Amino acid sequence: MADSIKKTAKEIIQSYNGPQIRIMEVCGTHTHEIFRLGIRHILPENIELISGPGCPVCVTPVGFIDEAVMLALDHNATICTFGDLVRVPGSEMSLGEARSKGAKVQIVYSPIDAYEYAKEHLEEQVVFLSVGFETTTPASCLSVKKAKDAGLTNFALLTANKTMPRAYRILKDSADAFLYPGHVHAIIGTELCESLVEEGVSGVITGFTVNEIMTALAVVITKLQQGRSFFKNCYPRVVTHEGSKAAQVVVSEIMEDCDSEWRGLGIIPNSGLKLKETYKDFDARVKFRLPEVKGRSNPACRCGDVLQGKCKPPDCKVFGRGCTPLHPVGACMVSNEGACSAYYQYGGNING
Ligand code: SF4
Repeated sequence: MADSIKKTAKEIIQSYNGPQIRIMEVCGTHTHEIFRLGIRHILPENIELISGPGCPVCVTPVGFIDEAVMLALDHNATICTFGDLVRVPGSEMSLGEARSKGAKVQIVYSPIDAYEYAKEHLEEQVVFLSVGFETTTPASCLSVKKAKDAGLTNFALLTANKTMPRAYRILKDSADAFLYPGHVHAIIGTELCESLVEEGVSGVITGFTVNEIMTALAVVITKLQQGRSFFKNCYPRVVTHEGSKAAQVVVSEIMEDCDSEWRGLGIIPNSGLKLKETYKDFDARVKFRLPEVKGRSNPACRCGDVLQGKCKPPDCKVFGRGCTPLHPVGACMVSNEGACSAYYQYGGNING
């Protein structure tokens, strides 16, 4: 059965002989899976896949890294973070480089790990770097709730949490259709995608297996030829119309919308989340009175253009030369979900 789905989807994809179409895989995990599964190799030339802004580490701006370095070096805070962020270059240095100057940086696998660390190290001020989209934000909120309930005064979040609705609207002219990120819509449901159809935005929600991705591409190609805006949930085993109510409730209790800076896209109004006033004691910017920080990217880096689908990683002059996963110049080469690391890992100019 699984093989026949893949075969049918492949036939639909490969029989396409219409005008050039551009499909944006919003999610960095889709970018990597599409490469890893060899799907780019079977696409006809008139179907172009472009990467979008759905890698949390990639869209986090340089200034956020600078804030984290400042907290570690100037305020002696212990930084708890996912591993990828440690290697992202800041204006002056990465967190990894700060560590060699004495900064305390702990790698954790979830915000709850950071909360546990704070509970076991009451003598340290612990800051968790809270980045990510709707998928990861509920766990950050839960960690704050737990810290408040436990009466912890040594735990805080440095937030750069982002939400997708505004980003979809800003990027809607970059592609003919989106492959929407399955994990995000498992949390927020499908209502947003349905309403985007009325604004002329097309796309399908898809999962991460070869059959799910191939089916989604076949649906996009079929629907685009019908000439009307569309939405289809191709990941119904995980994504429901209403999403995860429990996750939505915990986020709305603890965080609220705010303007947010995205690498390459600038400040997008109401595209981020910050802690509510009631939880300001857990907001590292408030707690440590951080000044406003303006980060400076390496001028050679085109991560901003990559994240908007304006160029492919190999179009960047330093791709694979000055910038490699071992010596990343920009965030898109660091993260496991970054487009530059996917192109580097899986072969440069495929469908370039
Ligand atoms: S190759 Fe490196 S420098 Fe160029 S856009 Fe990608 S991450 Fe930035």
